Amino acid sequence: MIKMYCNYHHHTNKLLCTDCRAIYNYAEKRTAKCIFGTNKPLCAQCPVHCYKIDMRKKIREIMRFSGPKMIFKYPVQALHHIIRKYSPTSQVVKNMKNSKIKNNPNKSVSKTNG
Ligand SMILES: [Zn+2]
Repeated sequence: MIKMYCNYHHHTNKLLCTDCRAIYNYAEKRTAKCIFGTNKPLCAQCPVHCYKIDMRKKIREIMRFSGPKMIFKYPVQALHHIIRKYSPTSQVVKNMKNSKIKNNPNKSVSKTNG
């Protein structure tokens, strides 16, 4: 996905530019250290935000660009992603995330006073 984004936006050919290489390496490190191990949910559904804010913004931008194109370029991987999205493990983590937000008023959307 990062390569697809980089090739299009940074005009690289089947390689990664220095910035995108740094994002790739960062993502690999975070994935390797994921506390969920082999039951790792999709990052978008994970209750633990392990990416630094700037890296999260960058990876989100990459996913937004590359995600919809995955079905045409890598249909098997895209299908695998969709299956993982709706897998029971992923749903358990999603429910954890929702209950965590409900139980922590600081995480809820701020209300206006008056
Ligand atoms: Zn790039």
